[in-house]
Amino acid sequence: APVIWWVRRDLRLGDNAALAAAAGSGRPVVPLFIHDETVEALGAAAKWRLGEGVAAFARALGARGSRLILRRGAALGVLRAVAAETGAAAIVWGRAYDPAGLTRDKAVEDGLDGTGIELRAVAGSLLFEPWTVETGQGGFYKVYTPYWKAVRDRDLPEPAPAPGLIPRPDFWPASDEIEDWRMGAALGRGASVLARHASVGEEAAQGRLGAFAAQKIADYAERRDFPAAGATSRLSEHLSWGEISPRSCWHAGLRAMEAGKAGAETFLKELVWREFAWHLLWHSSHIAERNWREGWDDFPWSTDGDSPEATAWKRGRTGIPFVDAAMREMYVTGTMHNRARMVAASWLTKNLMTHWRVGMGWFADHLTDWDPASNAMGWQWVAGSGPDAAPYFRIFNPETQAAKFDPDGAYRDAWIAEGRQSPGQGALDYFDAVPRAWGLSPDAAYPAPAVTPEAGRRRALAAYQAREG
Ligand code: FAD
Repeated sequence: APVIWWVRRDLRLGDNAALAAAAGSGRPVVPLFIHDETVEALGAAAKWRLGEGVAAFARALGARGSRLILRRGAALGVLRAVAAETGAAAIVWGRAYDPAGLTRDKAVEDGLDGTGIELRAVAGSLLFEPWTVETGQGGFYKVYTPYWKAVRDRDLPEPAPAPGLIPRPDFWPASDEIEDWRMGAALGRGASVLARHASVGEEAAQGRLGAFAAQKIADYAERRDFPAAGATSRLSEHLSWGEISPRSCWHAGLRAMEAGKAGAETFLKELVWREFAWHLLWHSSHIAERNWREGWDDFPWSTDGDSPEATAWKRGRTGIPFVDAAMREMYVTGTMHNRARMVAASWLTKNLMTHWRVGMGWFADHLTDWDPASNAMGWQWVAGSGPDAAPYFRIFNPETQAAKFDPDGAYRDAWIAEGRQSPGQGALDYFDAVPRAWGLSPDAAYPAPAVTPEAGRRRALAAYQAREG
């Protein structure tokens, strides 16, 4: 009897414990991806990117003589049906850690209880299972640095190679066609622009990691904050969809550290920020829903995502070049440099006094590297309402930030076309990506800011001081 390998956000053959368990069972393996309610709920860019990832992964499995079966519907019903059709005796999957995934998995476990089908969830997409990292008092970590100290010296097994053979079943159950899922439908014309900038699949992920470890990691600590420098790994979209395991990244970082490359430890620390985000989400799922800290619910944020200020922010038309460059970079590439994420998020939540949930939702709709943990932690950190938020009320000044991290204006030039003699391709791509209804043109005048950095800062500080009572 076959084993169903339920593929989720782990679109890889290498270092995949669920695949290893399935292939190692000696039974034929039926790889299955389900377009369930968690896929339905994805933002437009993430859903498109998942579709690309699933298609690439289906090709990779095909090249191994296996297949990826695609089905649509609630996971429990689909698993029941595929188990009945194939006579499967077992289902194995890589664990989820987010509330929606956990709810779905619980429904599957409850629903298949007593059917005799063996169910097995194995460690999936993290370096450290969230419940294995505890403070001296037995609770979870709420501050990054002690979390980092608690995990940095842990021994992690080397990443496991892809299994040599994925045993095939005697016959394949029916499968949907990925094209029929229309994963890019919500994206409109932006899909073809994103396609030019996305990096998809396990091979591409390994290529990025290899190139980063060989060329960039040494200078990573010094250069990672400069958005035009191309100095970061750009692995986030691969990590998000599980096209590479964090363990592969961790060991590449460790090897670079042993080779004396200066930036390697900083890279490991960033990988641990991702772990910390999942640790927080797993232990306190409300981080993705409401203010993590108490006392923030009265903060006078506007929750109107369609206000003129929020609309200008979303459309990269705030009149603050660093912020607008950031928003456009995301629209065109599906990712945004980390420094730019912080500055853009600060501008929305502080200077424009708009709720972080508005920004979190916009990012969720436009990031191809979206993950619920890092996005929620990032927004609450910047907004000041989150765990490990800056100890004082941090308001990034985009002009100071630009002077420091984009001194020659290369980042702003790369993404803003208005008022420039010969704008670059990325800056022009923006106008191809956005809905026509926005009525944007590279020949229009660049807007003046509705709020100056100084006025916005004063308003935000006053609100913060009022909150402090
Ligand atoms: P590198 O600098 O090369 O770092 C390596 C890896 O470490 C990244 O791929 C990522 O997995 C992890 N990492 C680095 N910085 C962070 C961080 N601050 N928090 C968590 N993990 C980190 N990251 C996402 O993957 N998905 C999101 O939805 C997301 N939303 C964010 C929202 C806000 C408001 C902010 C401030 C940050 C957000 N981040 C998110 C974190 C970070 O900006 C990206 O992970 C990073 O820019 C990805 O680029 P890179 O792969 O080149 O990173």
